[in-house]
Amino acid sequence: MLIDNHGREINYMRLAVTDRCNLRCFYCMPEEGISYVPKAALLSFEEILQVTEAFAKEGISKIRITGGEPFLRKDMMLLLAKMSQVEGIKEIHITTNGTLLEGKVGQLKELGIKSVNLSLDSLDPERFKQITRRDDLPKVMACMQDLTAHDIEVKINMVVMKGKNEQDILPMLELAKDQPVAVRFIEEMPFNGTEGQGNQGFWSHADILAAIQEKYALTRKLKDAAGSTSMNYSIDGFAGSFGIIAAYSRTFCGTCNRIRLTPQGLIKTCLYDNGIFNVRDMLRAGASQEAIVQALKAALNHRFKDGHAAEAHRKSQFPIFESMATIGG
Ligand code: SAM
Ligand code: SF4
Repeated sequence: MLIDNHGREINYMRLAVTDRCNLRCFYCMPEEGISYVPKAALLSFEEILQVTEAFAKEGISKIRITGGEPFLRKDMMLLLAKMSQVEGIKEIHITTNGTLLEGKVGQLKELGIKSVNLSLDSLDPERFKQITRRDDLPKVMACMQDLTAHDIEVKINMVVMKGKNEQDILPMLELAKDQPVAVRFIEEMPFNGTEGQGNQGFWSHADILAAIQEKYALTRKLKDAAGSTSMNYSIDGFAGSFGIIAAYSRTFCGTCNRIRLTPQGLIKTCLYDNGIFNVRDMLRAGASQEAIVQALKAALNHRFKDGHAAEAHRKSQFPIFESMATIGG
């Protein structure tokens, strides 16, 4: 079992398999993209599996594949197939923009993928295009239908941005009226690949809940799963549910059960730190799985209490301007 210095059990790894993306979401990266990590510096699938195997032996049982856009990585389905066979890995989840899944959903079901989080920030084609700088709303909607038709659990991730998509909160919520999806509203964070752009005047979790309760006064709080970052609610008569993720306010750190592995091999014990050690460098220098596990345990022995402490101790890069695609959203 992996336990950190604050007594939190760590059983969940978020694995960003690439920093590349086919969209350009305004809150994640600039229009011209980010300077991508050179291909040779990305973890290979073999390295990703080595790290997963090592950590699974110590108690990591849940994996989330994310990025960048994971389905841009060649042979992604092969990685998922291999990952699903790693001893100790009980659940694989995926976070994707949903634009590249056509024809793949049946295979995801066969592989036993537990859930898919789809990023969707507006149901209005024009606003979707303004936010993502691409015209792919129909693809994302088709993907959502395909996933629910295959009975794969779907969560919709909507980043709420001041002046950009507040008017989409209720239409997005109402997706859960007839469909068994969980709609999650996320506070915007400053990880947008742009120095100085920030998230000024952001919508807090309290603002989001208040906007929902103006129309749906009877929202009921659900019991949140262990380590959940979302505060979850149901509305009478809705097939699905909704949640709010206080990603910037950081209200959930006390029960955080996760670590992150970035595309370039950095292990992060908090989204807001800027990397604790690099497994790619260790593996390429010939380190054993045992050595990697020891490095992880040492990192967990000095883990920051919460995201505010992690941010205050960042070694460099103030203000925060990495893209979520590079750090594994
Ligand atoms: N490309 C995939 C996608 O969009 O779902 C996976 C990677 S993306 C970085 C993972 C999640 O991070 C998405 O749900 C996205 O909305 C969220 N995200 C990206 N930048 C963010 C920001 N600045 N603040 C809050 N959430 C952000
Ligand atoms: Fe790409 Fe996801 Fe970032 Fe949007 S949020 S630019 S889809 S990595």
